[in-house]
Amino acid sequence: MQLKTILNRVENFKSFVYGKARWVDDAEVPTIEVQVEARRNGRPICSGCGEVRPGYDRLAERRFEFVPLWGIAVYFVYAMRRVECPACGVKVEEVPWCDGKNQLTTTYRWFLAGWAKRLSWQEVACAFRTSWQNVFRSVKHAVSWGLAHRSLEGIEAIGVDEIQWHRGHKYLTLVYQIDEDCRRLLWAGKDRTTKTLLRFFRMLGKERSASLRFVCSDMWKPYLKAIAKKAGQALHVLDRFHIMAKMNKAIDEVRAAEAKRLERDGYEPVLKHSRWCLLKRKENLTEKQAVKLSELLQYNLQSVRSRLMREDFQRFWEYCYPACAAKFLEQWCTRTMRSKIEPMKQVAKTLRRHRELILNWFRAEGAISAGIVEGLNNKAKLTMRKAYGFRTAKAIEIALYHQLGDLPEPEFTHEFW
Ligand SMILES: [Zn+2]
Repeated sequence: MQLKTILNRVENFKSFVYGKARWVDDAEVPTIEVQVEARRNGRPICSGCGEVRPGYDRLAERRFEFVPLWGIAVYFVYAMRRVECPACGVKVEEVPWCDGKNQLTTTYRWFLAGWAKRLSWQEVACAFRTSWQNVFRSVKHAVSWGLAHRSLEGIEAIGVDEIQWHRGHKYLTLVYQIDEDCRRLLWAGKDRTTKTLLRFFRMLGKERSASLRFVCSDMWKPYLKAIAKKAGQALHVLDRFHIMAKMNKAIDEVRAAEAKRLERDGYEPVLKHSRWCLLKRKENLTEKQAVKLSELLQYNLQSVRSRLMREDFQRFWEYCYPACAAKFLEQWCTRTMRSKIEPMKQVAKTLRRHRELILNWFRAEGAISAGIVEGLNNKAKLTMRKAYGFRTAKAIEIALYHQLGDLPEPEFTHEFW
């Protein structure tokens, strides 16, 4: 069997044929070049307008890298024709294996992008003896193709969250689709201002924004503002995870301040190594942490009382009716306001201020599952943490779309990866 036969099987062009294949002498890695020729009756197509046009001249031969075979680099070699186009002037012809000035064939770019979903970009570059830049460009190409060809119809529920991509308050706002049957990253944008999120709504379009039924977010004011403005009809649910996270942060503050106070006043450092036993839920504690907690319970500490308040608040999520939940919320806030524990009082104030949005959790009647946005956001963080060579917001955005966007890919006659 000849190489030509294999190539015709995996990548067949209508107006071009494969010619001779040859070994390249003194190449750094084993390399094969395959000649590509235009069919005798095949007339060139203008790359400007896509029409068949009369030929003008021929450029020097160029190499286009194709998917490697058994560790052997494979190049197509072809001398591009130029056309004389009445609409576009003298233009290089369009060829089916490549676009523009790219040195990689389209199939090879999809091949690299496919591997880049499983390995870090650096690993892909190493495995296929190519540059990080080539992998990056391939992923970028796959993402822009996917974004242009994806469907945005029928989106009912979205979740908004942010991730920090760099120290010094550099954030990306991420918007996920969180419908039962379709969970994916819809959009990523720099910063976390009202304007940032408005850009998402602009991308989504007026009509689609108006048909959203649920929006899930944290209590970040700029987001609340943008959501109220652009998707006022949707039931806006404050994410359960974020509410509990706020409470945990307050407990942590109470603990840190109290530990300092105890030390200053010369008491036993009972709060040492207590962070996790105070923050974790009872059922998640290790044996050691559980012992520590029961020790702590003997002291009348603010940290312990804060923890008990949080445990008490867990009951909130078990209500079925918004009215009952509302009553509980009010009672909890009243109790907490009397506690004289400042960080917890702040939490109570915040909960009161966002009362209606918090109660929407119950009005959504289970349409939003707890922690769904958080789950997606954890995947986003994981993607970001992998080594991507350099850390610009743009590169991270592309990586996130690639991993979490569930983007479509064109159909190939042969599956290369
Ligand atoms: Zn043209």
